[in-house]
Amino acid sequence: MPIQLKDSGLLKTNAYINGQWVAGEAGETFPVINPATGEELAQVASVTAVQTKEAINAAEKAMKAWRALPAKERSDLLERWYGLILDNQEDLAQLMTAEQGKPLFESRGEVMYGASFLKWFAEEGKRVYGDVLPATQDRRSIVIKQPVGVVAAITPWNFPNAMITRKVAPALAVGCAMVLKPAAETPLSALALAELGERAGLPAGLFSVLTTADAVAVGGEMTSNPVVKKVTFTGSTGVGKLLMKQCADTVKRTSMELGGNAPVIIFDDADLDKAVAGALVSKYRNSGQTCICANRIMVQAGIYDAFVEKFSAAVAEFRIGDGLEEATTHGPVITEKAVGDIHSKVTAAVESGATVVQGGQPSELGSYFYEPTVLTNVTRDMSLFKEEIFGPVAPIFKFETEEEAIDMANDTEFGLASYVYTNDLGRIWRVSEGIEYGMVGVNETMISSEVIPFGGVKESGQGREGSKYGLDDYLETKYICMGGL
Ligand code: ADP
Repeated sequence: MPIQLKDSGLLKTNAYINGQWVAGEAGETFPVINPATGEELAQVASVTAVQTKEAINAAEKAMKAWRALPAKERSDLLERWYGLILDNQEDLAQLMTAEQGKPLFESRGEVMYGASFLKWFAEEGKRVYGDVLPATQDRRSIVIKQPVGVVAAITPWNFPNAMITRKVAPALAVGCAMVLKPAAETPLSALALAELGERAGLPAGLFSVLTTADAVAVGGEMTSNPVVKKVTFTGSTGVGKLLMKQCADTVKRTSMELGGNAPVIIFDDADLDKAVAGALVSKYRNSGQTCICANRIMVQAGIYDAFVEKFSAAVAEFRIGDGLEEATTHGPVITEKAVGDIHSKVTAAVESGATVVQGGQPSELGSYFYEPTVLTNVTRDMSLFKEEIFGPVAPIFKFETEEEAIDMANDTEFGLASYVYTNDLGRIWRVSEGIEYGMVGVNETMISSEVIPFGGVKESGQGREGSKYGLDDYLETKYICMGGL
């Protein structure tokens, strides 16, 4: 079924380079698939390393005038872009669900969430302050902040809109230019954003969108080209490490939002209903395909059975299906391969002694669907404890003591999001400080917004996105010494 949009001008299939909508160098294209149906939605231009270089050169040129503008003028453009996204929320949501699979209500929510970064950084970009340091007799020392330079961004398919806006908004707000490579699974959302940016008045070259089937070639140019001063990436830890290595040769700055292995630690004294609701939404949102999804649900022994019962009863009520149907609560996963990967993790756990309480199989709905699954009798020695599941599978672990819970939470190379349910004030502090994560949700799992610093520690990455801290990722600190006074 072709995508029905109110404004058909938002369905773009060419890449956007230097303010032009362009085909791949030799006319190459790649298909975009609707994961709910397996149907092809569009053929999109696949750009090359040479075209990436052109976009980078155009960004360098565009940045000269852009960085010289008063912050307020940059802010005005971001505000216009924000307004256009809100005006077109429904079309952007339809596009997103069609190419990514998440239910429409989640897509509508993501469009608003994504837009919020443009609004936020339109404001924050006006508040980039320098500093005057303590004077000495013959000199004055001043610190100014300047845009880092041309930024290359590489984004994933799980949030096809918001992962872009939370990078492009702060970059543009402080005077940088950006070249973006969206995921090949979800290029249509990225191109629609660029179209709205163009309508908002983006100068040519300031923001290019490099759709491609050849991530290695485009990523290779982005990470080796000396004009690019910073690479910002959201995706898997393996690719993030590779990009960091590639960036080393030209000593680029990097921001990395990588994988997670989020624990939800639920103590005996927690409010059971709140803990069940929080764990459910954190686990199954976007069919378990977010980097801050609950990956290990850890429940203290005294509340364990009651938790499992309520949690799995709620999972049994899910309505799985095509995200474009309003009744659907949970959509497909992104690819057929993902279904296979998820099932092999479940199978390995079951072979090691886990019990399937709900689901546990690929769904009969089609080759992109996996049954929402609940596993008990899972233990620390199972591979499931260490791996990011990235699918609708909830392993529920049991623990006895606070010390054991902290130890289990930290027993991973990841450190992105974590969640704690307890009503004991002392414990809230002890656990929040004791676990090695960039973000801790206390009695809350919906922790993300434009106002907060999103990011991880350990192998989950570095840098922060959103909030006042998010500006620093796109700024350099320059010290000016005024001597001979
Ligand atoms: P996921 O498992 O979520 O698809 P990836 O890390 O593979 O995570 O993908 C995130 C983004 O990284 C996508 O835009 C993808 O195309 C891109 N990517 C994957 N491999 C490379 C690479 N070698 N160089 C540059 N980008 C890459």
